[in-house]
Amino acid sequence: MRGQNKRIIIEEYGIRTRALEIFGTEIAVFEYSHPIERVKKEFLKLYEEVKPTYAELVDWMGVEAFDAKGNSKCDTTLKRTQAFCEKAGVDFEAVKAELENYGAYCDCEIIYNAIDIMDTDQPLPLRG
Ligand SMILES: [Zn+2]
Repeated sequence: MRGQNKRIIIEEYGIRTRALEIFGTEIAVFEYSHPIERVKKEFLKLYEEVKPTYAELVDWMGVEAFDAKGNSKCDTTLKRTQAFCEKAGVDFEAVKAELENYGAYCDCEIIYNAIDIMDTDQPLPLRG
């Protein structure tokens, strides 16, 4: 399921190093012959390059703000957007201002108004 946080555990495993990528209920296991410090460093580099984009917020909102029949559960606030930003380390005030440019003043309006006119590939502004 998209929009969930991925967790990485890197541990020594016998004479090798093992990385566990945990994503919802899925676990991927990778083994390396490099020492643990080197594996950690390479994973950090990898994740610094993966910047969250507006597409992830849009995907998440499609699931969070609507019920199974597609009806909006929005309470006319951006509380779900704010929760997403807190989880993802994103600057909520900057996102709020950007969304308002596209006519999204509450969570469901991201789907109704913003999604078709905004560039969802642009990265989300990270908290400083
Ligand atoms: Zn709404």
